[in-house]
Amino acid sequence: MNTSDLIVITGAGGFIGGSLARSFHERGFSRIRAVDKKPLSDWYQRVPGVESLCLDVSERKNCVRTCEGAVEVYNLAADMGGMGFIERFRVECLRSILINTHMVEAAWRAGVERYFYSSSACVYNTDLQKDMVSKALKESDAYPAMAERGYGWEKLMSEMFCQEYWVERGLKSFIARFHNVYGPNGTWDGGREKAPAALCRKVIEAKDKGRDWIEIWGDGTRTRSFMYIDDCVKGIDMITHFDDLVATPINLGSSELVSVNELVSIIEGVAGVKLERRYDLSAPKGVGGRNSDNTMIQRILKWEPSTPLRIGLKKTYDWIEQQYMDRKAGKRTVE
Ligand code: NAD
Repeated sequence: MNTSDLIVITGAGGFIGGSLARSFHERGFSRIRAVDKKPLSDWYQRVPGVESLCLDVSERKNCVRTCEGAVEVYNLAADMGGMGFIERFRVECLRSILINTHMVEAAWRAGVERYFYSSSACVYNTDLQKDMVSKALKESDAYPAMAERGYGWEKLMSEMFCQEYWVERGLKSFIARFHNVYGPNGTWDGGREKAPAALCRKVIEAKDKGRDWIEIWGDGTRTRSFMYIDDCVKGIDMITHFDDLVATPINLGSSELVSVNELVSIIEGVAGVKLERRYDLSAPKGVGGRNSDNTMIQRILKWEPSTPLRIGLKKTYDWIEQQYMDRKAGKRTVE
């Protein structure tokens, strides 16, 4: 790929899209078009020199404009959030199908060389994830399908669009199934945040207010793996530039499985506190256990996400603490 080729990133005002835009920019790519429906002032990262457009890509004409002249398209726009969001707003999640149908068609019509789609571990059959000690999920476990209602089914359908646009129309599509991504410059308050950010914020808040307890959703025994943002960005780039992976969904996640209680302990370690845990058993919890089986990514890319949770959480905690303090001091922050 040429550093003057036009790269388009949708959802670039959000967490992963913003980090991807920054990474391409830092690596010397000179023509990047970043697109998000949020007003520019609400983007987590505005990268100098990057063309930044406020467009709603659930509308066909905006997708045509977005893909104009693009050599590669990274479609990360989605109406999404943590469990609290995807369990309550299934219609919003399902409506992301508009983004993905219009984007893949516009990318194909524009003649793009590579099209990346951000899928999710929520496509996996939920029957396989009832126990806290469930087996790690391998790519074939998405079928027979029984995806997460709303969000997961939409992702599965959009994966299929990518696959059929390759088979019938020759669009080189690449599909990564992300497992819980975390890091600085992502949602940390307001209802869409995911567990690592929410727990960091709660610990910071407890410390700040002199409170010796925090509330935890569920009973703390559910298990997950969490991938640090730098690994996610690197993985997206590797997957999109490996032709053996055309139209082949692949896990992009860490295989370091932890319970919510273990996650809290790591964050407490970073913060230097020990808090009483009050469990809210009526809060949204998601599946019992979910981990990424990385056999395929190791075999094909000879690589897997490996940033230790402790290291990634320290960077995340520090960033959220800064945001929290800035907000408290009356400065404008993006949550
Ligand atoms: P995010 O919410 O931070 O970013 C998504 C961005 O898409 C937001 O800025 C939002 O404004 C934008 N968007 C939504 N609808 C749009 C529209 N119609 N037009 C233009 N922009 C629109 O989320 P993220 O964590 O950066 O996620 C990026 C992608 O990765 C999403 O597709 C998400 O489903 C997927 N994913 C994320 C995770 C995770 O743990 N963060 C896990 C699995 C999959």
